[in-house]
Amino acid sequence: MMARRVTTILPDLTFEEALQITKIHSIAGKIKGEKEALITKRPFRSPHHTISPNGIIGGGKIPKPGEISLAHYGVLFLDELPEFGRNTLEVLRGPLEDRIVTISRVGASLTYPCNFMLIASMNPCPCGYYGSTEKECTCDEKKRNLYRARISGPLLDRIDIQIEVPSVKYKNFYNSNSESSEQIKKRVDEARKVQIERYRDYGIFSNSELTPKLIQKFCKLDSNAQKIMEKYFEKFKLSARAYSRILKLARTIADLDGKENIESVHITESIQYRCLDKN
Ligand SMILES: [Zn+2]
Repeated sequence: MMARRVTTILPDLTFEEALQITKIHSIAGKIKGEKEALITKRPFRSPHHTISPNGIIGGGKIPKPGEISLAHYGVLFLDELPEFGRNTLEVLRGPLEDRIVTISRVGASLTYPCNFMLIASMNPCPCGYYGSTEKECTCDEKKRNLYRARISGPLLDRIDIQIEVPSVKYKNFYNSNSESSEQIKKRVDEARKVQIERYRDYGIFSNSELTPKLIQKFCKLDSNAQKIMEKYFEKFKLSARAYSRILKLARTIADLDGKENIESVHITESIQYRCLDKN
């Protein structure tokens, strides 16, 4: 349910995005009825963990788009991430980086776009109660480590925000005074507008699409922020990929904050969202 709520705060589609999504769904045979119907909502795909690698990236004699392309400009939600097959998870690595996927078959080789937002959930351990205050975890350390190891380092590296969510008590759930979806969406739309304007001449729509060259141009840090980054990297020995992902996320946090430059507070927040890297 929480994941579904995500769709209510996603930014509105631009006409160009809507066209691309409609094309892919049409090729996949997902649009029935009126030929002219344009998809106007960002897709939300949540395949079951038994899905095959081909189901994820696409396949068939004449290769059809898979879940990652059906989620283009929308969300791919993988619930209980460690339950997915190792191969199914590993085929996500390239597309998460390139935002396109090429499916080669004997008869044909086709490339589809797949600029999706990956959202995944997992338990802290197989029984689900590690760290809980309500019930005791029944797994030993070996079992917990094996469970966590099902998500490879390179895949984890490509996930920008990794956060621990404590279990929510029923009472708190109903008394929650948090921001409404409408309020959040308003902030998201404003931040997205800033990005569309900023990247008008660069053929991209959002921070997540920034190339290394564009990161240098648009994600400049002030000297305080630079110092924080250096310290963090020395301490955790992260990859260059993690470095650019932290910068892109900090750019988004600064945009949501209405700031033109990335300040130390934005970098600090961005770094905090990588709790699995730090173990
Ligand atoms: Zn457990």
